[in-house]
Amino acid sequence: MQKPKTYDITVIGGGPAGSTVAALTAQHGYRVLLLERETEPSFKVGESLIPATYWTFKRLGVLEKLRQSHFPQKFSVQFYSRSGKAAKPFYFFETNPHESAVTWQVLRSEFDQVLLENAAEKGVEVRRGARVREVIFDNDTAVGVVVQSAPENRGTRRTGPGTTEKETIRSTVVVDSTGQSSLIGRQLDMNATEPNLKMASLFTHFEGAYRDEGIDEGATLIMHTATKESWFWSIPLPYNRTSVGVVGELDYLLQTRRDANGKLDAQKIFEEELAKCPALKSRLVGAKQLFPVKTTKDFSYRANRIAGNGWVLVGDAFGFLDPVYSTGLFLALKSGEMAADTIVEAFQKDDFSEAQLGNFGPTFVKGMEAFRKLIYAFYTKDFSFARFLSKYPEHQGGIIDILSGDVFRKDVTHIFPDMARMCALPAEVPLSFNSSQ
Ligand SMILES: Cc1cc2nc3c(=O)[nH]c(=O)nc-3n(C[C@H](O)[C@H](O)[C@H](O)COP(=O)(O)OP(=O)(O)OC[C@H]3O[C@@H](n4cnc5c(N)ncnc54)[C@H](O)[C@@H]3O)c2cc1C
Repeated sequence: MQKPKTYDITVIGGGPAGSTVAALTAQHGYRVLLLERETEPSFKVGESLIPATYWTFKRLGVLEKLRQSHFPQKFSVQFYSRSGKAAKPFYFFETNPHESAVTWQVLRSEFDQVLLENAAEKGVEVRRGARVREVIFDNDTAVGVVVQSAPENRGTRRTGPGTTEKETIRSTVVVDSTGQSSLIGRQLDMNATEPNLKMASLFTHFEGAYRDEGIDEGATLIMHTATKESWFWSIPLPYNRTSVGVVGELDYLLQTRRDANGKLDAQKIFEEELAKCPALKSRLVGAKQLFPVKTTKDFSYRANRIAGNGWVLVGDAFGFLDPVYSTGLFLALKSGEMAADTIVEAFQKDDFSEAQLGNFGPTFVKGMEAFRKLIYAFYTKDFSFARFLSKYPEHQGGIIDILSGDVFRKDVTHIFPDMARMCALPAEVPLSFNSSQ
């Protein structure tokens, strides 16, 4: 039997969270292996960045690549009411006169590849076509993974046509960055869905949709439908494409629209919702839909732990809130950065306990909770940001700070007592620690 290969750190998943944690740990000279199941860059939803991603890009050393890229620049986010009226855009530079106030709208296949190549340049051993089947535990300590590689992959041994032998890899730290697959979260049954955010989404790309001019050309538009039971995003992308998606409660958007055989017609539902959003429909006149409508659901959840002995969760593998404020990529990058620091410290102290590896958790969750409160406000039917800001104009800056992602650099919580007078905000969900450790 072959002796298992050993690494300091195994990162499972080559999305933004995984590439970040891998690059920032490899820079310190550790032996890092990143395993990505896809054999090549592929389509992903989640295309709009927020300004605070700048600081992680800076640490990763990819800012220049992004500046030189063809990704549209994003200066603002603009909300449309159910009547189709556009509110004044929230320009990020209003509270931040710095280069970081301008961010990008990205095609994920290209963006994720930039980050993955950067990790490889920093010394990470990147393996594509490598699907991790299981994280191996010795009692309650993660000690490695079982990986199955695509047949064409270098270094794998075939046992029959199209199949490969499973390989065991040992490492001191295992990072789960598998996104919504949430490998460790599922293996240890740690994930709780957000009870009030049982949502679904339908989305596609259009070519040739109408765009506003000047600095508004790259804006994200968030547009309510007339009944306010769903909302659309419109995100301008390279190649004259626009990403368009609708989000609504799972029951409303999908479950109640099944035909007698339980089948869903995603295209029909998308068009029915679009008909309720004339402001967006008029922007799509003459535009060409580029692929059939895709569907996703049940994407709002969070694990109750962020780390254990020998393992850490980053990005969506820890949790995802909701697409409305485009916070997913930022939280993936930020948790990747924070986890990298905590892992480097763990090696310096030779301490790979839950307490050490999870020490970034409470700070991270506090930032995430600020987004969560604002998300609950958005979904409160009789709440509107326009009304909130006309009553409390002093909170305009606080809202822009949160929409920019400045939840770790500034204290943004001062807006919530007044907001709680106008809508019910959720109680914070603290992290658990495994009492047996
Ligand atoms: C409808 C919708 C709209 C969204 N819109 C936005 C938006 O506009 N802006 C924004 O910032 N965020 C958005 N998001 C969220 C965003 O897409 C995610 O938060 C982000 O992709 C998380 O990055 P990640 O690296 O954690 O995970 P991912 O990007 O999902 O990467 C995980 C990687 O792990 C790999 N993987 C999974 N399992 C295994 C395995 N067993 N072995 C090996 N590899 C594995 C996958 O192939 C994948 O490449 C949206 C989400 C949804 C659902």
